[in-house]
Amino acid sequence: MARKYKVVQCPKCKEFTYVPIGIHRNYCPRCDAKVPLHELDGQIVNSSREAQQLVQTSQYALHNVKQPPNLHLNQSPAKQLLQILRWHRSTYPQWLPIHEVYQQGIEVGLLPKEIQEAIELLKVEGFLEKREDTVRAVPLN
Ligand SMILES: [Zn+2]
Repeated sequence: MARKYKVVQCPKCKEFTYVPIGIHRNYCPRCDAKVPLHELDGQIVNSSREAQQLVQTSQYALHNVKQPPNLHLNQSPAKQLLQILRWHRSTYPQWLPIHEVYQQGIEVGLLPKEIQEAIELLKVEGFLEKREDTVRAVPLN
């Protein structure tokens, strides 16, 4: 039987995330606050994919960002990661800690290995700059 997921909003940072039903999560992955995420009310969905999509649309609504029409979960990891970085440029400080990039990538369903490869690929192709433990999307002209 497929596991169900619950999309919840952190009461501390107001950001959205999701938890597998039946799994205890005692901290928010976005702000590290001690919050029993599994006890919060939230929308129940039937797959991690649906949960990811709902988190994405909720996050876009939260940050009042218009969802790019070409953002699909079946895009290549590099494209997805670039979308995440460009999205963050408008809502967060330019340079994003690498661990945050991994967190965000994992939330849209990427594997750590895919994220690592995507970062290297984007760097080589000039879409991404890396400075110590932070990265950012190269500004668009
Ligand atoms: Zn939080």
